[in-house]
Amino acid sequence: MPKFFYPVVICKTVQVKILDTTLRDGEQTPGVSLSVEQKVMIAEALDNLGVDIIEAGTAIASEGDFQAIKEISQRGLNAEICSFARIKKEDIDAAADANADSIFMVAPSSDIHINAKFPGKSKEYVIEKSIEAIEYAKERGLIVEFGAEDASRADLNFVIELFKRAQEAKADRITFADTVGVLSPEKMEETVRKIKAEVKLPLAIHCHDDFGLATANTIFGIKAGAEEFHGTVNGLGERAGNAAIEEVVIALEYLYGIKTKIRKEKLYNTSKLVEKLSRVVVPPNKPIVGDNAFTHESGIHTSALFRDFKSYEPISPEVVGRKRVIVLGKHAGRASVEAIMNELGYKATPEQMKEILARIKEIGDKGKRVTDADVRTIIETVLQIKREKKVKLEDLAIFSGKNVMPMASVKLRINGQERIEAAVGLGPVDAAINAIRRAIKEFADIKLVSYHVDAITGGTDALVDVVVQLKKDNKIVTARGARTDIIMASVEAFIEGLNMLF
Ligand code: MN
Repeated sequence: MPKFFYPVVICKTVQVKILDTTLRDGEQTPGVSLSVEQKVMIAEALDNLGVDIIEAGTAIASEGDFQAIKEISQRGLNAEICSFARIKKEDIDAAADANADSIFMVAPSSDIHINAKFPGKSKEYVIEKSIEAIEYAKERGLIVEFGAEDASRADLNFVIELFKRAQEAKADRITFADTVGVLSPEKMEETVRKIKAEVKLPLAIHCHDDFGLATANTIFGIKAGAEEFHGTVNGLGERAGNAAIEEVVIALEYLYGIKTKIRKEKLYNTSKLVEKLSRVVVPPNKPIVGDNAFTHESGIHTSALFRDFKSYEPISPEVVGRKRVIVLGKHAGRASVEAIMNELGYKATPEQMKEILARIKEIGDKGKRVTDADVRTIIETVLQIKREKKVKLEDLAIFSGKNVMPMASVKLRINGQERIEAAVGLGPVDAAINAIRRAIKEFADIKLVSYHVDAITGGTDALVDVVVQLKKDNKIVTARGARTDIIMASVEAFIEGLNMLF
């Protein structure tokens, strides 16, 4: 159950099914085109996420879609694998030949769609064609989810008639599609109630976000008795997109007490995968999965926030597989750093504090936002530095490029003596460390036990955290360096380690 309490709306509905159409309606997003391999990757992620049905494409549409559906069907996933189809024999054959479990087969239901798709034909013609198609699809062994396209702009009596006839023809489920996203939540609720009163089949709803109401409309449809909804990861889809699965799932559970089979902690990684492969960037302010959804800028809120994160968060980020990020504001200073230090239980001397603030300012001056993770790394790096250094780096020069062996020269001051050395290496970091090792050779025999690099935040301008383990005789020490420059971070870590051993 939810960790936090809200005014939850009590519903009769307890669990709903999800048809994910990221690979069909989502792929119809302008500019999106996925390869077969990418579709398979996304399908596996969706299965892992726990969606009930994966609409993997339109088998008749292209060789790529056909292959993708076929390969996804062979993977033995838990989800039902579905192909989109029109009420046409060739569409049904393609879906069955691709080994899909089911089809989401749509018939036009509004006058606009009927005239556009079957010019001059009557509504009765649409019904006859639908029945024929459903019966044929059942013959071919497919589960049939039969949808009324553009149903929100159609005569509801006709839509209900179409659904009743589909039921007689042994369709398995029906879908009410708000194809151009023009329903209001109230209208959706009323419509679903009317359909449920007359048709027994499980009802799905398919909502678009043209007016920003896809999530609200989906929820109102479910509240009124729909047993299934269509959605996409990140709300991808034609035009303004479809209902975003992550939004609907979280709102349903936390505000309405309605469960889905979604493993919520996988929502964020799935969103990132879809973002990467579709190349549709998630807006930073997107609910649940946007960069800023669990990011706080420190300032006056910082102390309240540190005392109790619930004060500015509706759910904790871990619920959806994320971590809280605290960005230090432009004027981040002593107070924010002290808050983080207190949380970590560290104390700094005035000189160390000065160094910490200087390093934070250095990142900020480069135009990069400073996160709490950056600050932690900087604090921990600065706190380990001995005040009295036996080994000091005075100069460092690197030469690196294509078709040359990277070279480094260093000037160190060791126990007061100046040492200049140069060395080559497999990479610039290796060359720099080799040069330092040469310079200290006479003083001590130091072994590098391990070397580990992490970029604290994404991006080539991120703070780089290097952790090294050094060994002298039987003593092993761990030291870290944190800079935006990977070579400097490595050298800093190595030299700090030396200072611990000297
Ligand atoms: Mn659609």
